[in-house]
Amino acid sequence: MQLSIQSAILGMDRSQVTELIEQLGEPAYRSQQLVEAVYRQRVQSLDEISTLPQSLRISLVTKGISIGLPQIEQRFVSQDGTVRYLVALADGQSVETVWMPEGDGGEAGDGSEAGDQAERFDGLSGDHNQKRHQGQNPGRSTICISSQVGCAVDCQFCLTALLGVKRNLTAGEIVGQVCAVLKDQKVSPPEDRINLVFMGMGEPFLNYENFMKAARLLVEEVGIAERRMTVSTAGIVPRIHDFGGEKIRPKLAISLNASNDKLRTRLMPLNKKWNLEMLIKAAREYPLRMREWITFEYVLLGDVNDSPENAKEVAELLRGIRCKVNLIALNPGPGIEFATPDAERVAIFQTILRASGISAFVRRPRGRDIYAACGQLKRTVETATVLAP
Ligand code: SAH
Repeated sequence: MQLSIQSAILGMDRSQVTELIEQLGEPAYRSQQLVEAVYRQRVQSLDEISTLPQSLRISLVTKGISIGLPQIEQRFVSQDGTVRYLVALADGQSVETVWMPEGDGGEAGDGSEAGDQAERFDGLSGDHNQKRHQGQNPGRSTICISSQVGCAVDCQFCLTALLGVKRNLTAGEIVGQVCAVLKDQKVSPPEDRINLVFMGMGEPFLNYENFMKAARLLVEEVGIAERRMTVSTAGIVPRIHDFGGEKIRPKLAISLNASNDKLRTRLMPLNKKWNLEMLIKAAREYPLRMREWITFEYVLLGDVNDSPENAKEVAELLRGIRCKVNLIALNPGPGIEFATPDAERVAIFQTILRASGISAFVRRPRGRDIYAACGQLKRTVETATVLAP
């Protein structure tokens, strides 16, 4: 089984595909055709690549090479249009990928999204593509992808944590989720402006190399701009440093979720290893590019971390960092002991941050009714229960 993952073209970069083509004694330009077919046309099987001679397709198959596009096993469609995909991997494992039409993939939290904000800043409208899709606005759609099967971080409010970590995804499996969803939704970047958030199952910075390779492939081959991608980390401090040094990199979001060490250690046990002082230091040292900011996510748990005092502590911690805060009211789930806070407490929290000069937004929950919202990805197959919006 592992063999079929390794022999997938999805996940190979240009030099690897070229090497493969050379091994087969074929001219180098064939690698360009293969890369195009896999990442741009997103073909499902080698048979579909009519630009390649049949003899080459046969030698690839004989060598045990496949495209490696993951199969969509199930789709759950929310009342709000969000689609949660259960994506099957070659070894029988599965992960979840979420499609959120009309923006707010979560990296902005204010109903807009990062790429658009940057473009507005540049004075570009960039909405040419809306004409193609009358009425719809696929330019504001966001795909949320997973980086691991399950998660090892054990945040106490997150359903994915209940799975534990099964394994890392390969770069091909990470890119493959995007390709499978683009194909299913019949959209194609860069003509369609797609945002990407690495905020699904797993901790991307605990699968750093594969995550980074996937990010590069998504930029260079699939055609999604860096400024349209955001990766969220629970706070793997050494990797935040490494990430700052990458040439190609998505924007950074950090899951803060608590305003002091005592509380954060209780909610996120990884805080014992990398505490707030270390985390905030890494954020302060992070080399932000022009018009870039760090996003801090803060999951609000009723009567646990949502008091005005907590808000003041957050404002103190983040003082002077070019950042914004995305407040996320807890998305509930079976086995989660916390409560969603009252809307009023959320509003007060936001007001306190804003009064301290910090941009703060409340993230709109997407697809709660189908277990597609933040912290709800657990490969839940039963979705009969419709939760309160
Ligand atoms: N492991 C990474 C990527 C996942 S992003 C990280 O932790 O950042 C998922 C976001 O949803 C995180 O900010 C997380 O704190 C938040 N989250 C987790 N469980 C949640 C829940 N039940 N309700 C709302 N947000 C939740």
